[in-house]
Amino acid sequence: MNILVLNCGSSTCKFQLIQTDLNMMAEDHDRCLAQGIIDRIGGKSQITIRIDDAVVLRDSRPIRDHRQAVEQIVSWVVSEESGLKAVRSPSDIHAVGHRVVHGGEKFKTSTVIDAEVLDGIRDCIDLAPLHNPGNIKGIEAVTRLLGLGTPQVAVFDTAFHSSMKAQNYLYAVPYQLYRRHSLRRYGFHGTSHRYIAYRYRKLESLKREEVKIISLHLGNGCSACAIDKGCSVDTSMGMTPLEGLMMGTRSGDIDPSLIEFLCEVEGYSVGEVDMILNRNSGLLGISGLTGDMRDLLFERKDTGDRRAGLAIDMFCARVKKYIGAYMAQLNGVQAVVFAGGIGENSSEIRAQICSDLDSLGILLDEEKNLARPEDSRGWVVSADHSPVKVYVIPTNEELLIARDTARFLEGAC
Ligand code: ADP
Repeated sequence: MNILVLNCGSSTCKFQLIQTDLNMMAEDHDRCLAQGIIDRIGGKSQITIRIDDAVVLRDSRPIRDHRQAVEQIVSWVVSEESGLKAVRSPSDIHAVGHRVVHGGEKFKTSTVIDAEVLDGIRDCIDLAPLHNPGNIKGIEAVTRLLGLGTPQVAVFDTAFHSSMKAQNYLYAVPYQLYRRHSLRRYGFHGTSHRYIAYRYRKLESLKREEVKIISLHLGNGCSACAIDKGCSVDTSMGMTPLEGLMMGTRSGDIDPSLIEFLCEVEGYSVGEVDMILNRNSGLLGISGLTGDMRDLLFERKDTGDRRAGLAIDMFCARVKKYIGAYMAQLNGVQAVVFAGGIGENSSEIRAQICSDLDSLGILLDEEKNLARPEDSRGWVVSADHSPVKVYVIPTNEELLIARDTARFLEGAC
């Protein structure tokens, strides 16, 4: 089966075309046929498509809206130019899986999209005003382009965390506020943490219910997840993706009194403070240079920039703090797993985070941490005698979205 996986943001549309079915899943032989991104939808858009890591199309062209973006993707996929023999017409796209950021309390698992589900996703816009509208546009674009005959499945970022207990998902504010507004922690990056738990159990040959790990997704957005018996017990992001770890441009945890204070002393509106906390804080806010970790590491090393160093130190200290908290919450773990652009690629950050954690049983192996095995789905970077293993697992949310979608088609859900 050919599954088109879409991740539509407000002005972007990322896609992967994945071939999978129940047999390929069981053998872990699913294939990514092509992947790409369209940036700056609504203006002069940039389209980049890759097959097997090689760029096969890079072009700049005006793309009006999400419908046209999906149209461009589908017409490229079925064209001679793509060389994808398995997909010759739109009907060879058997289903579409969508990443949907917020499923609120309503969606606890992946769901086939119909009018009622689409309304449910709309109801969650209040909880994710920056994300759900883009996801909805993507769904509507596919319906208009491929028709109702092509099944669509929503895979929610929040769903994996629906196993959290009330003691972990509630804020300590008047309970009526939760009852009235569903004001609570939901957590995000759920599909990534679910993939990490899945890949870890495959690598360790464990059953799902035997998995007890701390998963660290460190990219532009960052979150930690405490996983026990294969389920999310706690996670660092909250009602929105602002809470928790320090991120590229997001502050992570702050004292909420800062908001009123900033409104009073700086004359900001609440909306302006929200913007500062989401877009001008984190690594960018502290360094005053960039929210990009690679650039900060370069600045620290090559120019000795003090604030770049401070931003990195704060970032690592915050991750360390969450590792300690989740170790206590889970009463120890089998492994700490690094994922995301920073977690997967930066041995330096992994080393800084894991330094002086020997009392928690975390001992990195310097050489293993520097190596990057070719074509690996995950590798160990801890010392052989480390009581807690440290893994790097490149995350693959798209694979799980494709698999969830294919399972619906095969009636296996
Ligand atoms: P997103 O959350 O948008 O998917 P990514 O997971 O791609 O983002 O992560 C982007 C982050 O990963 C950026 O801060 C980038 O600098 C960082 N990164 C990527 N490669 C490296 C590297 N080799 N060393 C350090 N940081 C890296």
